[in-house]
Amino acid sequence: MTGFEPTPEALLARLDAVDPAAYARSRNALDGAVTRLSPYLTHGLLDVPDALAAIRAHHHVPVSHKLAFEFGWREFFRHAWRHLGDGILVDVKPPPWPGAYASALPADILEGRTGVPVIDLAVRELHATGWLHNHARMWVASYVVHLRKVHWRAGADWMHAHLLDGDLGANHLSWQWVAATYSAKPYVFDAGNVARYAPRDWHSPGTAVDRSYEALDAIARGEPDLGPEPAAVRGEVSGVMPPAVHAEPPADALAGLRTTDEAGWVAQAVAACAAAGDARVRIVHPWSLGGARGREPAVRMGLLHAPYHSRFPWSARRWAFVLGAMRGRIEVLHAGDARRALDALVDAGLVPVVRDALVPGWREAIEAVRRRAVVVEPVPREWADPDRYCASFTRFWNVVAR
Ligand SMILES: Cc1cc2nc3c(=O)[nH]c(=O)nc-3n(C[C@H](O)[C@H](O)[C@H](O)COP(=O)(O)OP(=O)(O)OC[C@H]3O[C@@H](n4cnc5c(N)ncnc54)[C@H](O)[C@@H]3O)c2cc1C
Repeated sequence: MTGFEPTPEALLARLDAVDPAAYARSRNALDGAVTRLSPYLTHGLLDVPDALAAIRAHHHVPVSHKLAFEFGWREFFRHAWRHLGDGILVDVKPPPWPGAYASALPADILEGRTGVPVIDLAVRELHATGWLHNHARMWVASYVVHLRKVHWRAGADWMHAHLLDGDLGANHLSWQWVAATYSAKPYVFDAGNVARYAPRDWHSPGTAVDRSYEALDAIARGEPDLGPEPAAVRGEVSGVMPPAVHAEPPADALAGLRTTDEAGWVAQAVAACAAAGDARVRIVHPWSLGGARGREPAVRMGLLHAPYHSRFPWSARRWAFVLGAMRGRIEVLHAGDARRALDALVDAGLVPVVRDALVPGWREAIEAVRRRAVVVEPVPREWADPDRYCASFTRFWNVVAR
């Protein structure tokens, strides 16, 4: 099971396959027993409490278990994002190197032709599948920021665009964690670490990562800027062009979905609610693709906040995943301004039911309409979100997992 289908059946199969004991033994290895639940969690097809409950129906997973701990990381990043807001998109603290990091990813990295096998294979896998093992994400981020001196934000935006689970909180703060703008020290890795956790073709002896940890740490904090890898300069590795990213849904992904402007969208909602005898409208947005919970509204309308997608475009694969989950569930889809669209529904006498979201644009839209006749559903959490900001995972975990 390698692909990701946005269906309840595929999600159930993934949950059934979770093996917590094997996870605890092998999660750091690229072929380890990780769950691959992340695209479903990011897009609200699954929540952390549901995931843990489903797994605990068959396995003993106390709060001290490695798997619970990793779900805790997801909730921590959400906690930090709630407190820092768009502050997660800029350096939380100064980087370890005072020089000027590049603002764009070089072509040899984007095309997977640096000549460093661990980087090239990871980049190609991300582009080909929309998913990457946590360790591979860390290796790529470390190489980009510390060895190639590219600002973490350029790498984070690129990875976010291609990941099916792309989540600004987890992604951008993880990049900052690697970059040491959100952690105490730069994360560096050596060729031995790759040899221990990755298959043979990923091993990278004799490349820029084949140095001592002392040397790698010194490079992360200062000179030298290594520049492109020799193999890339000599053109010894052929590259693969990265997939395009799209600010609007590609036509293929929209197949079978009806789209409309704001006026048509509101008119459709009014008509459907009148027919159903229920003024409530479920707003199905990209972070709210899950099934019914409790007394669900009869009418479901799809909504995209277009300015977010212009700022953070997605790969066609990500669009296909998200719109695939909407297909068959919604009356019509509207791509416009979330705040205006929600206001227009309330003005028309309807009651939007919308799941909370922290992404830029949605967060402001939901805050703005919260005081109107709108039902805002919190994202379910396994551990109650502390009111006071915990600036590190350790502090957060000490509070929530007591
Ligand atoms: C540079 C970088 C970028 C990342 N970008 C994202 C992202 O955009 N979206 C995202 O969901 N995760 C991101 N992560 C965290 C982590 O890599 C993925 O959540 C994990 O690899 C997903 O695979 P899985 O579902 O098999 O995880 P598992 O190991 O099976 O863990 C189960 C669940 O726990 C959560 N989880 C596990 N590890 C982490 C972690 N380190 N941080 C936060 N949550 C975690 C995820 O929700 C995951 O689905 C990033 C990590 C790094 C280092």
